Amino acid sequence: MPIREKILIVEDERTISNFMSTVLTSSGYDVLVSASGKEAYTMITSHCPDLVILDLGLPDTDGVRIIRAVREWSQLPIIVVSARIHEKDKVEALDLGADDYITKPFGTSELLARIRTALRHSSKKHMNDTLAQSGIYQVGNLCIDYERHLVKLEGEVVHLTQNEYKIISILGKYAGKVITYDYLLCELWGPGARGNNQILRVNMANIRRKIEKNPAQPRYILTEIGVGYRMAEE
Ligand code: CA
Repeated sequence: MPIREKILIVEDERTISNFMSTVLTSSGYDVLVSASGKEAYTMITSHCPDLVILDLGLPDTDGVRIIRAVREWSQLPIIVVSARIHEKDKVEALDLGADDYITKPFGTSELLARIRTALRHSSKKHMNDTLAQSGIYQVGNLCIDYERHLVKLEGEVVHLTQNEYKIISILGKYAGKVITYDYLLCELWGPGARGNNQILRVNMANIRRKIEKNPAQPRYILTEIGVGYRMAEE
Protein backbone atom coordinates (compact mmCIF):
# COMPACT_ATOMS: atom_id res chain seq x y z
CA MET A 1 0.00 0.00 0.00
CA PRO A 2 1.58 3.31 -1.01
CA ILE A 3 2.10 5.81 1.80
CA ARG A 4 -0.08 8.87 1.40
CA GLU A 5 1.91 12.05 1.69
CA LYS A 6 0.68 14.56 4.22
CA ILE A 7 0.43 18.20 3.17
CA LEU A 8 -0.20 21.11 5.50
CA ILE A 9 -1.93 24.13 3.94
CA VAL A 10 -1.31 27.36 5.82
CA GLU A 11 -3.71 29.95 4.45
CA ASP A 12 -6.09 32.44 6.08
CA GLU A 13 -8.32 33.00 3.05
CA ARG A 14 -10.89 30.29 3.33
CA THR A 15 -11.86 30.19 -0.37
CA ILE A 16 -8.24 29.54 -1.31
CA SER A 17 -7.58 26.94 1.38
CA ASN A 18 -10.83 25.16 0.48
CA PHE A 19 -9.84 25.14 -3.16
CA MET A 20 -6.38 23.74 -2.44
CA SER A 21 -7.72 21.26 0.06
CA THR A 22 -10.20 19.86 -2.48
CA VAL A 23 -7.58 19.62 -5.21
CA LEU A 24 -5.02 17.91 -2.99
CA THR A 25 -7.45 15.49 -1.39
CA SER A 26 -8.75 14.35 -4.74
CA SER A 27 -5.15 13.89 -5.89
CA GLY A 28 -4.54 11.39 -3.11
CA TYR A 29 -2.80 13.51 -0.49
CA ASP A 30 -3.69 13.69 3.19
CA VAL A 31 -4.49 17.31 3.92
CA LEU A 32 -4.21 19.42 7.06
CA VAL A 33 -5.29 23.07 7.11
CA SER A 34 -4.35 25.95 9.36
CA ALA A 35 -5.32 29.62 9.12
CA SER A 36 -2.78 31.09 11.52
CA GLY A 37 0.99 31.08 11.84
CA LYS A 38 1.11 30.03 15.45
CA GLU A 39 -1.18 27.07 14.95
CA ALA A 40 0.64 26.13 11.75
CA TYR A 41 3.98 25.95 13.52
CA THR A 42 2.50 23.73 16.21
CA MET A 43 1.01 21.48 13.54
CA ILE A 44 4.36 21.22 11.77
CA THR A 45 6.08 20.02 14.93
CA SER A 46 3.30 17.71 16.05
CA HIS A 47 1.94 16.23 12.80
CA CYS A 48 5.20 15.93 10.82
CA PRO A 49 3.76 16.81 7.39
CA ASP A 50 5.73 15.85 4.26
CA LEU A 51 5.28 19.27 2.73
CA VAL A 52 3.95 22.70 3.71
CA ILE A 53 2.16 25.16 1.46
CA LEU A 54 2.63 28.48 3.16
CA ASP A 55 0.87 31.80 2.63
CA LEU A 56 3.21 34.67 3.53
CA GLY A 57 0.52 37.13 4.64
CA LEU A 58 -0.99 35.57 7.75
CA PRO A 59 -3.09 37.39 10.35
CA ASP A 60 -0.80 36.75 13.33
CA THR A 61 2.67 36.50 11.81
CA ASP A 62 4.65 36.81 8.63
CA GLY A 63 5.13 33.49 6.82
CA VAL A 64 8.87 34.13 6.50
CA ARG A 65 9.17 33.83 10.27
CA ILE A 66 7.76 30.33 10.03
CA ILE A 67 10.29 29.41 7.35
CA ARG A 68 13.08 30.75 9.51
CA ALA A 69 11.89 28.81 12.57
CA VAL A 70 11.37 25.53 10.68
CA ARG A 71 14.72 25.71 8.89
CA GLU A 72 16.54 25.73 12.21
CA TRP A 73 15.75 22.05 12.60
CA SER A 74 14.13 20.67 9.46
CA GLN A 75 14.50 20.44 5.68
CA LEU A 76 10.78 19.85 5.30
CA PRO A 77 9.78 21.10 1.81
CA ILE A 78 8.01 24.46 1.92
CA ILE A 79 6.21 26.00 -1.03
CA VAL A 80 5.39 29.63 -0.47
CA VAL A 81 2.09 30.89 -1.86
CA SER A 82 1.52 34.59 -1.88
CA ALA A 83 -0.27 37.42 -3.60
CA ARG A 84 2.85 39.50 -3.23
CA ILE A 85 4.45 40.16 -6.52
CA HIS A 86 7.57 41.89 -5.25
CA GLU A 87 10.78 40.14 -6.15
CA LYS A 88 12.18 40.99 -2.71
CA ASP A 89 9.67 38.79 -0.84
CA LYS A 90 10.23 35.90 -3.17
CA VAL A 91 14.00 36.09 -2.78
CA GLU A 92 13.73 36.43 0.98
CA ALA A 93 11.55 33.35 1.22
CA LEU A 94 13.86 31.31 -1.00
CA ASP A 95 16.98 32.57 0.76
CA LEU A 96 15.52 31.44 4.04
CA GLY A 97 15.08 27.98 2.59
CA ALA A 98 11.66 27.83 0.95
CA ASP A 99 11.80 25.25 -1.86
CA ASP A 100 9.56 27.01 -4.33
CA TYR A 101 7.30 29.98 -4.81
CA ILE A 102 3.91 30.25 -6.42
CA THR A 103 2.01 33.48 -7.00
CA LYS A 104 -1.75 33.90 -6.64
CA PRO A 105 -3.82 33.36 -8.65
CA PHE A 106 -2.62 29.95 -9.79
CA GLY A 107 -4.20 26.92 -11.42
CA THR A 108 -4.63 23.33 -10.27
CA SER A 109 -2.04 21.80 -12.57
CA GLU A 110 0.59 24.36 -11.63
CA LEU A 111 0.01 23.70 -7.94
CA LEU A 112 0.21 19.93 -8.32
CA ALA A 113 3.32 20.12 -10.48
CA ARG A 114 5.11 22.27 -7.91
CA ILE A 115 4.16 19.86 -5.14
CA ARG A 116 5.39 16.81 -7.04
CA THR A 117 8.71 18.49 -7.78
CA ALA A 118 9.26 19.61 -4.19
CA LEU A 119 8.43 16.15 -2.82
CA ARG A 120 10.70 14.45 -5.35
CA HIS A 121 13.62 16.75 -4.56
CA SER A 122 13.18 16.27 -0.86
CA SER A 123 13.22 12.49 -1.03
CA LYS A 124 16.29 12.57 -3.27
CA LYS A 125 18.02 15.07 -1.07
CA HIS A 126 17.52 13.09 2.10
CA MET A 127 17.36 9.45 1.33
CA ASN A 128 20.87 8.13 1.01
CA ASP A 129 21.87 6.88 -2.43
CA THR A 130 22.94 3.31 -1.64
CA LEU A 131 19.67 2.62 0.10
CA ALA A 132 17.64 4.08 -2.73
CA GLN A 133 19.39 1.72 -5.16
CA SER A 134 19.64 -1.52 -3.22
CA GLY A 135 17.05 -1.47 -0.44
CA ILE A 136 19.92 -2.14 1.95
CA TYR A 137 21.80 0.26 4.16
CA GLN A 138 25.22 -0.88 5.26
CA VAL A 139 27.58 0.89 7.60
CA GLY A 140 30.55 -0.96 9.09
CA ASN A 141 29.29 -4.39 10.15
CA LEU A 142 25.72 -3.20 10.50
CA CYS A 143 23.27 -3.93 7.72
CA ILE A 144 19.63 -2.82 7.50
CA ASP A 145 17.63 -4.85 4.99
CA TYR A 146 14.52 -2.81 4.21
CA GLU A 147 12.89 -5.41 2.02
CA ARG A 148 13.13 -8.19 4.60
CA HIS A 149 12.63 -5.82 7.56
CA LEU A 150 15.66 -6.99 9.45
CA VAL A 151 18.95 -5.82 10.80
CA LYS A 152 22.15 -7.85 10.74
CA LEU A 153 25.32 -7.36 12.69
CA GLU A 154 28.39 -9.17 11.36
CA GLY A 155 26.04 -11.29 9.28
CA GLU A 156 23.89 -12.38 12.24
CA VAL A 157 20.26 -11.29 12.55
CA VAL A 158 19.75 -8.90 15.47
CA HIS A 159 16.57 -9.59 17.42
CA LEU A 160 14.74 -6.30 17.63
CA THR A 161 11.26 -5.31 18.74
CA GLN A 162 9.05 -3.68 16.14
CA ASN A 163 9.70 -0.22 17.59
CA GLU A 164 13.43 -0.81 17.75
CA TYR A 165 13.44 -1.81 14.10
CA LYS A 166 11.36 1.21 13.19
CA ILE A 167 13.78 3.58 14.91
CA ILE A 168 16.81 2.05 13.20
CA SER A 169 15.11 2.00 9.82
CA ILE A 170 14.18 5.69 10.01
CA LEU A 171 17.68 6.70 11.09
CA GLY A 172 19.23 4.55 8.35
CA LYS A 173 16.98 6.00 5.71
CA TYR A 174 18.31 9.47 6.54
CA ALA A 175 21.83 8.40 7.48
CA GLY A 176 24.10 11.33 8.16
CA LYS A 177 21.22 13.62 8.99
CA VAL A 178 20.07 14.46 12.51
CA ILE A 179 16.57 13.18 13.18
CA THR A 180 14.88 15.03 16.02
CA TYR A 181 13.41 13.31 19.07
CA ASP A 182 9.99 14.69 18.27
CA TYR A 183 10.12 13.44 14.69
CA LEU A 184 10.85 9.90 15.88
CA LEU A 185 8.26 10.06 18.66
CA CYS A 186 5.69 11.31 16.20
CA GLU A 187 6.50 8.59 13.66
CA LEU A 188 6.36 5.78 16.20
CA TRP A 189 3.75 6.75 18.73
CA GLY A 190 1.87 9.61 17.09
CA PRO A 191 1.66 13.33 17.87
CA GLY A 192 0.61 12.73 21.48
CA ALA A 193 4.04 11.30 22.31
CA ARG A 194 5.87 14.54 21.57
CA GLY A 195 8.25 15.54 24.33
CA ASN A 196 8.24 12.06 25.86
CA ASN A 197 11.96 11.57 25.29
CA GLN A 198 12.21 8.98 28.06
CA ILE A 199 10.41 6.31 26.01
CA LEU A 200 12.85 6.95 23.18
CA ARG A 201 15.86 6.79 25.48
CA VAL A 202 14.75 3.40 26.79
CA ASN A 203 14.38 2.04 23.25
CA MET A 204 17.71 3.51 22.21
CA ALA A 205 19.47 1.96 25.20
CA ASN A 206 18.10 -1.44 24.16
CA ILE A 207 19.07 -0.93 20.54
CA ARG A 208 22.60 0.04 21.50
CA ARG A 209 22.95 -2.96 23.77
CA LYS A 210 22.13 -5.11 20.74
CA ILE A 211 24.20 -3.44 18.03
CA GLU A 212 27.04 -1.52 19.64
CA LYS A 213 30.24 -3.08 20.94
CA ASN A 214 30.45 -0.34 23.54
CA PRO A 215 26.99 1.19 24.08
CA ALA A 216 28.54 4.07 26.03
CA GLN A 217 30.58 5.02 22.98
CA PRO A 218 28.28 4.20 20.08
CA ARG A 219 29.68 4.01 16.58
CA TYR A 220 26.47 3.41 14.60
CA ILE A 221 23.81 5.62 16.17
CA LEU A 222 25.13 8.87 17.55
CA THR A 223 23.34 11.16 19.99
CA GLU A 224 23.01 14.83 19.18
CA ILE A 225 22.45 16.10 22.69
CA GLY A 226 19.20 18.00 23.07
CA VAL A 227 18.27 17.45 19.42
CA GLY A 228 18.04 13.83 18.35
CA TYR A 229 19.97 10.93 16.82
CA ARG A 230 22.09 10.49 13.74
CA MET A 231 22.94 7.25 11.94
CA ALA A 232 26.61 7.07 11.02
CA GLU A 233 27.67 7.07 7.38
CA GLU A 234 30.56 5.05 5.98
CA1 CA B 1 -3.22 35.78 3.46
